[in-house]
Amino acid sequence: MKRIILVLLAALALTAKAQAAGMSAHMLMTDRALEEVRDPDLKSLLLTHHDALLSGSAYPDSGFALRYTAQHHGRWDYGEDSHLPTFIEAYLAHVRAVCPARGECADLTAHFLGASAHIMEDQLFDEIFLPRAEKMDFNGQPHHYDFDVSIEMLVIVDQKLWAAIPQWFAPSSDLIDVYSRLRLDVSRKEIMTGNRLLKLAMEGERMIAPWEYLRKKKGAPWFATHYDSAPGGFQFNAEIVARFWEVLWQRLNNSDAGDPLLSVYPKDGATEVAADEEFHAIFSKGVEDPTITNATFFARDQEQRPVAGTVRTARSRFGTSALVATFKPAAPLQPGATYTVFLTPGIQDLSGAPLPREYAWRLTTAQETKPGT
Ligand SMILES: [Zn+2]
Repeated sequence: MKRIILVLLAALALTAKAQAAGMSAHMLMTDRALEEVRDPDLKSLLLTHHDALLSGSAYPDSGFALRYTAQHHGRWDYGEDSHLPTFIEAYLAHVRAVCPARGECADLTAHFLGASAHIMEDQLFDEIFLPRAEKMDFNGQPHHYDFDVSIEMLVIVDQKLWAAIPQWFAPSSDLIDVYSRLRLDVSRKEIMTGNRLLKLAMEGERMIAPWEYLRKKKGAPWFATHYDSAPGGFQFNAEIVARFWEVLWQRLNNSDAGDPLLSVYPKDGATEVAADEEFHAIFSKGVEDPTITNATFFARDQEQRPVAGTVRTARSRFGTSALVATFKPAAPLQPGATYTVFLTPGIQDLSGAPLPREYAWRLTTAQETKPGT
């Protein structure tokens, strides 16, 4: 009985962190991303080391699991720091240092790519999908609906993930080295405990999912029916993660040729854009939040007049870099109008390198000005 209570507590508490998708949601998004990978070598590595990939795709949340141990007492844990673009860079540097030749340490490479996917997926889900869900289900008003716990219940039941828990892989000595590159002191015991609790919580989620499913579905019907298909949802994120992996794969193989701008939404040339749409830029390497300003990320209308609006990034309070940046127009866009969105080289990545050029893309709003999703 004690174990069951512990499992349920862990399941509920773990996913209670503000925003972001939960572990089962990450594994599903990561598996979808695998289907979108074009590079045959990368695809075969990820398929052959699938358990390590899935373990990695849940890994960043294992730090939060430590919050539910008796010894924690509100102390720092490695959860938040494992969600930062700087973690991806440190992990990449570690893999490059210890795996000199392509194809070596494949489990470690798969775990690294899984953890990187998690970080990207959280930012896309929080920045692009959740604001839509808040608008559609709660009219942008305050609410007590817990998207994190809910997404887990929904995907476990909808996608029949009852048995989908991988053979767990946690490369603790490698991860200790990654943290030391970030000047963070994390012990093997913390990593192992965090991973054990994370796996336990996944089992716990499966126990409560049948009871919670309908309630979660009723609580936010738009969220429950669009998490797969809407922008920032699973399929959208899977395609971005696949492109992100291809850039990281190139970098692992000592090429830095990838374009720092991975994707934008709405896409270049998009039509029928809703009047209340936000403009998102997605980067393959963390960009520094202070360099994302109205002077470096902005939009103009067809008469070249600036569009009033605000910018934000998916940075956390623990770091200054983010993979997703957003421009939010202050007023509804005009119907049937074309806008150009710009990013300038004033934007710097986390190593201080500017964007190599100016980017511009165009989109056209729908003739009718009803708000969209
Ligand atoms: Zn997370």
